[in-house]
Amino acid sequence: MALIGVQEGSGMELDLRFEAVHEGILVSGSADVEITGECGRCLDPIKYGSSVDVQELFYYGDSQWAAEVEEEQQHRVENDVVNLEPVLRDAVVTSLPFQPVCREDCQGLCAECGARLEDDPGHHHEVLDPRWAALSGLAGTAGSSDPAKSTESVEREES
Ligand SMILES: [Zn+2]
Ligand SMILES: [Zn+2]
Repeated sequence: MALIGVQEGSGMELDLRFEAVHEGILVSGSADVEITGECGRCLDPIKYGSSVDVQELFYYGDSQWAAEVEEEQQHRVENDVVNLEPVLRDAVVTSLPFQPVCREDCQGLCAECGARLEDDPGHHHEVLDPRWAALSGLAGTAGSSDPAKSTESVEREES
């Protein structure tokens, strides 16, 4: 399942121009769509409006130009009607971010415990370098006779 896309049935505002050209009908303009998805870092829901540019030439079925374009890439005017749906879908899909995020600076989730770093910015885990792991016991002992702490307690007693 894609992380992000246009939800089915969501509104779409089209601002399109249709021009008759030799080969067919040139459709150009923009479509305002509502993108919904999930942040790839913190999994929060994402929702934003996006405007995508659309430009597509729909060929007349019997035009000589149509033959010059690869079959699967060409759109055709069928019974005087153009099917915009696949064109719009392509335009939207290409405009979607490869890795959607709720914010550019989204902190994401803690790799250690899965907590949201956003909610807990100071959040971190002691990750001991294995080279120092043997010293961690020593550091603990030193901490109890921390010189800063003992000075503090002395000052408190004096006041
Ligand atoms: Zn996020
Ligand atoms: Zn954590």
